[in-house]
Formats: sequence, structure tokens, C-alpha cells
Amino acid sequence: MITRVRYAPSPTGLQHIGGIRTALFNWLFAHSTGGKFVLRLEDTDRTRYDPVFEQNLYDTFKWLGIYWDEGPDIEGPYAPYVQSQRTMMYQKHAGELLEKGQAYRCFCSPERLEKVRADREAEKSQETGYDRHCRNIDSEECERRIKAGENFTVRLKIPLNDPENNSSAITRFNDKLLGDIEWKNSDINPDPVLLKSDGFPTYHLANIVDDHFMEITHVLRAQEWLSSTPLHVILYKAFGWEPPVFCHLPMVMGQDGKKLSKRHGAASVDEFRRQGYLAEALINYTALLGCSYEEEKDIYTKEELGKFFSPDKLNKAPAVFDYKKLEWYNGQYIRMKSNEELASLSLPWAIEQGLFGTGKDSDKTTEKEMELYTAAMDLVRERANYLPDIPAKLGYLFSEPVVPAVEEFIPKKSDQKSAYALLQMGKDMIPAFFPDGKAATDEEIENMVKEKAEKESVKLGDLLMPLRVAITGSRVSPPLFASIRLLGAERCLVRINSALKLLGSA
Ligand code: GLU
Ligand code: ZN
Repeated sequence: MITRVRYAPSPTGLQHIGGIRTALFNWLFAHSTGGKFVLRLEDTDRTRYDPVFEQNLYDTFKWLGIYWDEGPDIEGPYAPYVQSQRTMMYQKHAGELLEKGQAYRCFCSPERLEKVRADREAEKSQETGYDRHCRNIDSEECERRIKAGENFTVRLKIPLNDPENNSSAITRFNDKLLGDIEWKNSDINPDPVLLKSDGFPTYHLANIVDDHFMEITHVLRAQEWLSSTPLHVILYKAFGWEPPVFCHLPMVMGQDGKKLSKRHGAASVDEFRRQGYLAEALINYTALLGCSYEEEKDIYTKEELGKFFSPDKLNKAPAVFDYKKLEWYNGQYIRMKSNEELASLSLPWAIEQGLFGTGKDSDKTTEKEMELYTAAMDLVRERANYLPDIPAKLGYLFSEPVVPAVEEFIPKKSDQKSAYALLQMGKDMIPAFFPDGKAATDEEIENMVKEKAEKESVKLGDLLMPLRVAITGSRVSPPLFASIRLLGAERCLVRINSALKLLGSA
């Protein structure tokens, strides 16, 4: 049997960590078993549907590089993959349950249902949900009310008695992760609506009909759906269908033990993206939320994860989302990128920060600027944990830094006069860094500086400090020798001269 799994989001919000974790586990499971991963849009809640969220779904997964084998945008043998295009099918199946006496029509108005709720509240009653008011309306009355044009919904008739055992009914199922689960039918959401009065199905009906006809073999979904599963099992039974294997995934919590949400930090993928996370880091980290891969390592490619994943490796305990750990992953993936990749990934932030002096107009970035920017990736790769950190550290390569205050140039236990002399020493070396007009390597430059310090009997650090401040505008900067090499002799000398002027002016 080929495994078929699905991600079935409702486009009523932005894609968030919990959702992509569900999608990812399904994708990994399909890959680990050579099965198929299906995307199905559960857009039956028309009041909360927004095309913006549907677009966000496609954009998010494109960015993550996770693709489905079948779905609304690529179709497949079980099309359509959008529930709003399958309404007839749900109506037909609701009709089938009505005929079999497994469902019934409810003529209650929203006002009546609201009154039941309010009365119970006033009485401090423990009862919730529908009061099964229409469960026993006889067929004649039913016909008459339909003919009279009354609105109705179709509700599932949850069996309350087990005639075989002469007891109250219990629904049992197995969850691959949580084991055997049983639920008293009297505790299940009482006779939930399957078909709304506008003819649209509810989640429960559409989800079951689709999982059945799309031949879904395994349902891996968030644990918050666990309470719906007894209901779904009853529906499968009512139809006479075999339910799929259920596996409810461990919850994702914030550090405070509460369900991960905006309060903890970024939660939507959009926001992670805006903050400068890489898709690979997010995938790698998310795939570890509630699953142990048993390999002694942290970094996994998507393909490796797809090889190692198994529902047997899922943890029962909730996973805690650790932003610090994710930051570490992001840094690791930044280190793995080539100069070209990193330059292109971080370019939007470079432009936004006005790095090239062209404001927010990306078309004005010149080839020369891009070449320098690309080469500069070597200077920051080891130190950046987020993409926007990259251009933020490189301003001094693209525009003249403000000459810092005099004190900044003065090494410890030194004075302005000595700083001037040290910087002069640095200046004298510049031409040697560019033999035949071309820059020496960083290592060669370093050796020259070391020799000079020795020859002049000054501390290497003292020699470098005023030079670093003059050239980069700061005591803390990306590597100095590489900066000198990229800036070129001329630009270095201009900066050194301005600094010398400042230091010599006292
Ligand atoms: N449409 C449901 C959701 O939004 C699907 C739940 C399920 O996987 O059954 O998550
Ligand atoms: Zn009713």
C-alpha cells in the first residue's frame, strides 16, 4: 500500500510554525515511505476565508522549498483539491447519512440555539453544545417543514447506546503516538452540524469525505484536533468506511509552557522571513520539534530528514520552541552559504538599509557595488546570525564613515601623539599592501604588519587600532586586512589622511 498523507489548512490566517511543522512532518513521512504528499484547501468557512491567506500559503511553501505531489495549483488524480469546489459531493454524502438514519435535519434557528446557550449560562449548567432538540422529529413533520421552506442544517446522530452490549456507547480508536484512546459518546460534541443551512459542509464532514476519497492512509495533524477524532471515527463508521491511521503530533509550546503564539515572538513564517531567517534553518529546526532523529548531529538537510523521519521517532511530550536555538541554526546556515548566495539573500535588507546610497531603489544598485558587496560576504559570514546583520556591518565599505572622536583612536596607556605616530606608520605601509596596484592577500598583509610592529617595537594591537578606526570608523569591525584589500589603496589613504588631520590638530 502506498502511503498518502495530506496537509489540509484552512486559509483563515497566516501560515505559522505549528502549521508548517504539520506540513513538514507529513512531507517527511511521505518521503520516508515513498508515498505521496497532498495539499488540500479546507476553505469551507467562508466567513473567515481570505484570498490573502491562500496566497500566503503558496508563498510560504515556495519559500520553504516544500512541494506537494498533488494540490490545487498542480492538480492530480483526486482533483479538485479545494473543498469549496467539492460541495456537491458533501451534500450527496450528507444525504446518504440522512437516508440511513445516521443524520437528521435540525430546524432550530440561530436565535433558538443562542437562547439555549444563554439559559444554560444563567442556570450555571454544565451542558454545552446542541440540546438534540430535533433528533426525534418524525419524517412527516420533517417533510412538512421542508415543504414550508424552513431552513435546516444536517446533524450527525451520535449513537448514545450500544445495543450489542446494552450499555452507553463508547468510541475507541488507536493513535499511533498516543496509543489506545476511548471516549464516551455522551462526552462528544453533541450531534454536530455536518451541513450548514447554506448547503456548505462543516470541517468534520468535508474532512472525512475527502480523506476517504483521496485515499489518505495516515492523518498526521496537530494535537488540538484530537477531540474531533472520536467524532470522525463515528462518521467513518456511519459511512461504513475504514478510517486512516491517526497520529496527533506533540504540541509546540513557548518557554512558559503555553501554546506557541505571537506573545512568544515571531510565530508566522512571514515574520521569521522578515527578520532574516533562512528557509533551511527554519525547516531544520522545525523538524526537530517533537521528533528525535537519533543521529548524533544537529544539522540535517531536508533530504536527510526525509530519510530518517518516522512516526516512531515522535515524542509524546510537548516540544518547546527555543528562539535561541533557532538563531544558532540560522547562523550555521548562513556560514554554509557561498558569497553569491549570501549576497543575493541579504540584498533586500542592504537596499532597505540604503547601504548603496541609492535609497530603496534596487534598480540603481550598480554592478560594481554588487561585486564589492558579494566579495564582502567573507568578512561577515562568521559573525552574522540574521540576514539584516550582514549589510548592517558593511556600511563603511560603501560610504565614508564619520571620523570618530579622537579618544577612539588612542590605544590603552597611550596618548594622542603616539596614536598619530602609529597611524602614520600604518599609512606608510599602504603602498606595500598593493604591490603592482593589486592587493596582496590578507595573509601577506598580516605578515607585513607583524614585521613592521616588530621592527618598530610597538605592540601589534597598538599599531592596528588607530588604523582600524581610521579605515572602518569603529574599534569593532569586520576583519581589517580584508577591509583594506576591498577598499583599495586610494580610499584607505583618504580615510587615514582625514584621521591624521584630526589627530594632528591638537
Ligand atoms: N482544516 C484543518 C486545519 O485547519 C485540518 C485539520 C486536519 O488535519 O484534520 O488545521
Ligand atoms: Zn434543532
